[in-house]
Amino acid sequence: MKKEKKVFERPFIKKITINVPNKFGKTTSFYPLQEIDGIKIKEMVEKYGSPLFIISEQTIINTYKEAYRAFSLRYPKVQFAWSYKTNYLDAVCRIFHKLGSWAEVVSGFEYEKALRNGISGDKIIFNGPYKTKEDLIKAIENNSLIHIDNFDEMYTLFEIAENAKKLPKVAIRVNMDTGIYPQWSRFGFNYENGEALEAIQRIMINKKLLLVGLHTHIGTYIMAPWAYATAAAKLAHLWVLVKNKFNHNIEYIDIGGGFASKNTLKGAYLPGTDTCPTFEQYADAITSAIINSNIDIENLPLLILETGRALIDDAGYLIGSVVANKKLPDGKPALIINIGVNTLFTSWWYNHQIIPVQEFPLYSESTVVYGPLCMNIDVIREEIQLPPLKKDDLIVIPRVGAYNTTQWLQFITYRPPVILIDTNKNLHVIREKENLNYISSLEKLPDHLK
Ligand SMILES: *Cc1c(COP(=O)(O)O)cnc(C)c1O
Repeated sequence: MKKEKKVFERPFIKKITINVPNKFGKTTSFYPLQEIDGIKIKEMVEKYGSPLFIISEQTIINTYKEAYRAFSLRYPKVQFAWSYKTNYLDAVCRIFHKLGSWAEVVSGFEYEKALRNGISGDKIIFNGPYKTKEDLIKAIENNSLIHIDNFDEMYTLFEIAENAKKLPKVAIRVNMDTGIYPQWSRFGFNYENGEALEAIQRIMINKKLLLVGLHTHIGTYIMAPWAYATAAAKLAHLWVLVKNKFNHNIEYIDIGGGFASKNTLKGAYLPGTDTCPTFEQYADAITSAIINSNIDIENLPLLILETGRALIDDAGYLIGSVVANKKLPDGKPALIINIGVNTLFTSWWYNHQIIPVQEFPLYSESTVVYGPLCMNIDVIREEIQLPPLKKDDLIVIPRVGAYNTTQWLQFITYRPPVILIDTNKNLHVIREKENLNYISSLEKLPDHLK
């Protein structure tokens, strides 16, 4: 009998990840997550539906206090400013303002939101590359801190300042080489080529603006505290140059945000929970650089931090349900959940954890997790170890507090409600689930189509 020749199969090497410990222990710990701040997830879903965003006020408070403590123990004058674009739900902003944060905004819209949240104008930092003339006039009237991004903006301010009743308070944004590449060079004035110093001198010579601050925001999800030390040292150097040449004390140095959160970036080898620096490490780097600079101790500037994602990511959870369970043609298990890339916007760059809510067996499989959109790119995880899950099982995605309820897209589905668990474990709807009337409210029908 003739033997059939077997079809050639390309050899391949595959990393086995199930139950293999890395140097920190087991790679995946499988425990269901059944409650948040002592509230049963199942009950919240029964009340508010699925999907559902949850924000924990207690977690915000704890994280803020931990971060503020790290800086205020190491430096005498510290001020946090809440980065609105990271999460500008009013309730969230007001929690930060109540804790003492100023507002850091990057558009006229965010500026209006900050004012409506009751923060006084002189505690609003106005960043960003695009501020309209009207935005600038309003910011001057309110004594806000205007962070100049470019020379055109500076000249517009010079012009407005001619007739302004108040002396505009400004800072310049500085970009620089901190050893982190690719360098963020598109915002502000460059340090190394002398542009930042030139901008400062133009402001000092013009005399129509009051230079109160030096600002940088070196990037986002920066895992290297030493990069901040470089940034702080460079701003401190500019501070000293201004002091020596103009005998002018700049009131504050603003180091921006960009501290990493504990989420895991796509392509990262180790989980973010193991690699994310602590607030102490960032604070050590930044405050040492300022204290060891030539800034005189008598005139130590206020240190401002605009950290966003590191303060809010842990406080947000997204709850969803399994819609269907499939086997792909290659045998790989797949899940469809009711959370898409439009709702969980950060799934573009994070490998988010997905935790089942109910008890499950111990074994797990490498699974693809799809969202509900009729679009091939709607993939929440290309590969994740999950126990077998069935239709209607609940899952929780932790660490979604940053950049989701601002960047989420209204696309194909309604955006889910957002619930706040307050410190007394009371639940509050802080943003309603969308509905057809809300979404259509700005549309207009021409007569002939009615
Ligand atoms: C986005 C932004 C922040 C906050 O950044 P995180 O990475 O969320 O900490 C702070 N300052 C400026 C100017 C920003 O644009």
